[in-house]
Amino acid sequence: MQLLDGLALSKTIKAEIRNDVDEMIKQGERPPHLVAVLVGNDGASQTYVNNKIKSCRECGFESTLIKKDHATTEDELIRLIKRLNVDDSVDGFIVQLPLPKHIDANKVLLTINPEKDVDGFTPQNFGLMALGLPSYKPATPYGILKLIQRNNIDPTGKRCVVVGRSNIVGKPIGIMLGQNKSIGNCTVTILNSHTQNIEKYTREADILIVAIGQPKMIKADMVKEGAIVIDVGITRVSDDSTKGYHLEGDVDFEDVAPKTSSITPVPGGVGPMTVTMLLYNTLLARKKVVQIV
Ligand code: NDP
Repeated sequence: MQLLDGLALSKTIKAEIRNDVDEMIKQGERPPHLVAVLVGNDGASQTYVNNKIKSCRECGFESTLIKKDHATTEDELIRLIKRLNVDDSVDGFIVQLPLPKHIDANKVLLTINPEKDVDGFTPQNFGLMALGLPSYKPATPYGILKLIQRNNIDPTGKRCVVVGRSNIVGKPIGIMLGQNKSIGNCTVTILNSHTQNIEKYTREADILIVAIGQPKMIKADMVKEGAIVIDVGITRVSDDSTKGYHLEGDVDFEDVAPKTSSITPVPGGVGPMTVTMLLYNTLLARKKVVQIV
């Protein structure tokens, strides 16, 4: 069994990004600038945003964290986004999800300038991605593609089952792996919470990707011998530790790992790759190499 080590790969890719940034600075150019907008006090969101800002520092990026309190209105947030859309010192920005319930996340996402949408969530970027055209690819699926590519896994012709159909993970990774691209050409099935007997599908998967937010739901008897298993899930599970919680994936790693040919751990699998591909997208935005039509 091979461990798909997202932490190690993210360090390698971040070093590559850092080299590019150092070169830019040597040429007298300014480094990429990422802005993260965080609304409210959700603990997990604060951790994710802090990781993104820390990674920016590691890569030599400029970064700005804009914290707004929970009571921020939808109009105030949209006004802020419109300012960021036209601020020439900002290459890319993200609005950390989830947003408080009184704010319509779709309305907010539709306001983001696609040229600065380094999360790849706007309809323009999602549409271009689905057409196989240049775009800012959503960071988590992009991280999964990189894990596959840099671990020399050839997905062509493999049966891929994705559990979960969210717009940010399940749906885009299903589209990407089904495309006629070098890291693609899978036969893809996407499952949702209404799918009957999910094990019937998961047992057929050469590549099983799980993004549901149900800790340890996938057990060994649901997985094919020799499968490649990618666990996207991250759930905070309460415990007696000083932190008060630990992180669990959607796959029961101890149970499933011996049966697989390769598997991602949680933490240290897809999570660090997500942050790294966000930075990579921001580097592309700084260089203006992706032309959003
Ligand atoms: P969502 O809640 O948006 O979507 C979950 C999806 O899973 C839905 O499509 C839902 O189906 C489906 N689902 C839920 N339960 C089942 C089930 N029992 N059987 C089949 N399908 C099911 O979640 P996200 O996609 O945003 O996130 C999923 C997980 O990944 C979470 O734990 C999240 O924290 C984590 N995550 C990790 C990231 C990383 O960088 N590692 C990045 C993003 C997310 P339906 O549509 O029918 O409701």
